[in-house]
Amino acid sequence: MKTIRTIEEMRDELKKVIGQSVGYVPTMGYLHEGHLSLVKRARKENDVVVMSIFVNPLQFGPNEDFERYPRDEARDKRLAEQHGVDLLFIPTVDVMYPNEMGIEMKVTKGTDVLCGRSRPGHFDGVATVLTKFFHIIQPDRAYFGLKDAQQFAVVNTLVSHFNFPIQLVGLPTVREEDGLAKSSRNVYLSEEERKEAKTLYEALKLGQKMVMDGEKDVDLIVQKVKTYITEHMNATIDYVEMLSYPELNEIKRVDEQVILAVAIYYKNARLIDNIILSPDGKQVETIIR
Ligand code: AMP
Repeated sequence: MKTIRTIEEMRDELKKVIGQSVGYVPTMGYLHEGHLSLVKRARKENDVVVMSIFVNPLQFGPNEDFERYPRDEARDKRLAEQHGVDLLFIPTVDVMYPNEMGIEMKVTKGTDVLCGRSRPGHFDGVATVLTKFFHIIQPDRAYFGLKDAQQFAVVNTLVSHFNFPIQLVGLPTVREEDGLAKSSRNVYLSEEERKEAKTLYEALKLGQKMVMDGEKDVDLIVQKVKTYITEHMNATIDYVEMLSYPELNEIKRVDEQVILAVAIYYKNARLIDNIILSPDGKQVETIIR
């Protein structure tokens, strides 16, 4: 595995593998099994696997955790190499943004809901940095976790509306044994919070069961999920929403593929989770676009 820090070096390395397929896994590092599941899939499907590690300041709000976001480059390098990454791209902020940006992406669809509503500008930052990475790396396939399902929906719009010749692979959320979705941010949780955090997945499963049992009324499902969270967690609910997926339109009834998504705040942490369901309640775990 080669660790690469500049765009020029990245381009030189990619010139050496022209004609071979390139799979790309973008991350912010502090790797866990969720990230590594993306690498494993990329390894199976491509000749060359590129991972980037970049905590992108553009996608953090002024009161968010950019500064304290967990970082451990030595450990990330070891894990990336063990799992078959060929090129590990770790640019600094200066490498990615040498000047103040003179042009930025603005996401105009699917951002007035879910995390887009509570994190204004977040998906603009994601779309901007991914546009840069897609141009630098020019992958054949890019791998994302459906843990961040709104991000996957936005990237899908980016790739389709800006004609990137990239196949998108959205992969299942990897969870801890008790159901908590793995996340670099789980280190922010206190012992007590960590214990009750499994509630989020339980609440989603409760919503799924309602759909499986034939419930179609979105308001009713959302209400039940909210109540379950309130009764089992000492957290503030940011949102519980059920929308069409990947369009992210508001719906009244479960008649198409939907996402049931939750976000809560603790004192030092914000947790998100979701499940994507077909109209009969079966979970959709992988999406290829
Ligand atoms: P991040 O480093 O948090 O920006 O995540 C990088 C990529 O890993 C994104 O595509 C995430 O959706 C994905 N990812 C993060 N957590 C998980 C998880 N628990 N299961 C599967 N994919 C994940």
